[in-house]
Amino acid sequence: MPLSPKNDDSCGWIKSLPKRKANPSIKGVTRTKWVVIGAGYSGLSAAITLAENYPEEQIILVDANSAGEGASSRNSGYLVDSTLNDGHLSDTGLNAYKSKYELNQLAVQCVRDLIKKYEIQCDWNECGKFYATATLKIKDKLHKFHHLLDQLQIENTLFEKDALANRLGTDFYKLAVKTQGGAIIQPAALARGLVNALPENIHLYENSAVLSILKGSPHKVLFEDGEIVADKMIIAINGYMPSLGIKKDRVFPLLLTASLTRPLSLEEQKQINNVEEWAVLSANAMGATIRYTQDKRIMIRNTVEVSSRLQLTPSQLATRQQSHLKGLQKRFNFLPDDIFESAWSGVTCISANNANVFEQIHKNYWVIGCYNGGGIGLSILFGQQIAFQAMQQPQALAKKITARPQAVWLPPQPFLSLGIMAKLAKDRLGAKLDN
Ligand SMILES: Cc1cc2nc3c(=O)[nH]c(=O)nc-3n(C[C@H](O)[C@H](O)[C@H](O)COP(=O)(O)OP(=O)(O)OC[C@H]3O[C@@H](n4cnc5c(N)ncnc54)[C@H](O)[C@@H]3O)c2cc1C
Repeated sequence: MPLSPKNDDSCGWIKSLPKRKANPSIKGVTRTKWVVIGAGYSGLSAAITLAENYPEEQIILVDANSAGEGASSRNSGYLVDSTLNDGHLSDTGLNAYKSKYELNQLAVQCVRDLIKKYEIQCDWNECGKFYATATLKIKDKLHKFHHLLDQLQIENTLFEKDALANRLGTDFYKLAVKTQGGAIIQPAALARGLVNALPENIHLYENSAVLSILKGSPHKVLFEDGEIVADKMIIAINGYMPSLGIKKDRVFPLLLTASLTRPLSLEEQKQINNVEEWAVLSANAMGATIRYTQDKRIMIRNTVEVSSRLQLTPSQLATRQQSHLKGLQKRFNFLPDDIFESAWSGVTCISANNANVFEQIHKNYWVIGCYNGGGIGLSILFGQQIAFQAMQQPQALAKKITARPQAVWLPPQPFLSLGIMAKLAKDRLGAKLDN
């Protein structure tokens, strides 16, 4: 039985939205020309693109969970253009960095256009983000990053301790590079906005986990109580690809956990100098991601792990939350122990060389996913572009995407999990002060 996501109501971003009734699950045999599997940002974007271009045709969209409520609602909400920690700091990597940055910029623009078109309210804020560290051990890395961004004429500013304390309301950090592009968002509000924007010719089935796929002409998609027979199929299940045997020697899922506080009281806001919304990513690969939101809450994520079940028990989640609390109180020691309102986990997808998946793997069978650290923008852009490929209207951009390096081969299990666990443990040690 493949692993598939289970509904849970732990995610603070989702809980802050109005409740939504899920559509029925799939029953019996359904014949269709188009099916999209996975209704995260990738699948929603692909299905909307198909439906808008073929208003007379029915597009079937299926999710194992409630639509949009996987990683697409559970992420930290950084819609990034510039990135750190992906091995680009050598001169030889300059061009690769530039092309990645340009693709991310297109992705940011794609999301900006969508939220305007569908009038999606998702707390969009172009306030920039800080790549920060609490230890000067990695100051050279940040200076190099600053220099690289300057070389590429990407707007950025170096912040030292006092300026950071003024802006963030904590003197925890010693150095940061602030980059201006991209945006921060309420991720679940973006996902919900896309679900609400689905055109009428999309038939959405929820709580319908695909158990297996028999590729052919047509393809057969098998569920517990039903079957979809489809001529053309787009798979957009990201971290769950290996569980359906897709790209399993190229991509790997990781489980991330985050917590969100209640809104800070007026007194607590005063203690952080009534600062405005901000967003910090760690300059250390495994350091904490932390945001102060528009509604005065703090979100922190500082755990990443290999998980064979891709979910945590309540007691495991409580342990992860203790680690979030420790990270929070290192920065804001006056905040009480019971300040968190929610904690949740989410599944992300990585490859060994930071490559993505954007591919036709069989006749009339396309797959997208594996966005490594950042996928809000790329998933939506890839969803659109793969739909155009499937409609046989390839765009110039798709050529550029497919020309990028493919995900390299990964060793088989159990060596793969053990290797990744060892790498995470090493990075975690290196990032101890930034957690
Ligand atoms: C905690 C966390 C923090 C993150 N922070 C950021 C960030 O700040 N910025 C950023 O850019 N990215 C971030 N990401 C990554 C980002 O969320 C993902 O790259 C993005 O959501 C991918 O979208 P997707 O639609 O491809 O995948 P998903 O949102 O995972 O959607 C896949 C869908 O497929 C469904 N599915 C899976 N298996 C089956 C099956 N067998 N049958 C049917 N349906 C199935 C799932 O239920 C899910 O809805 C983060 C991820 C996590 C988990």
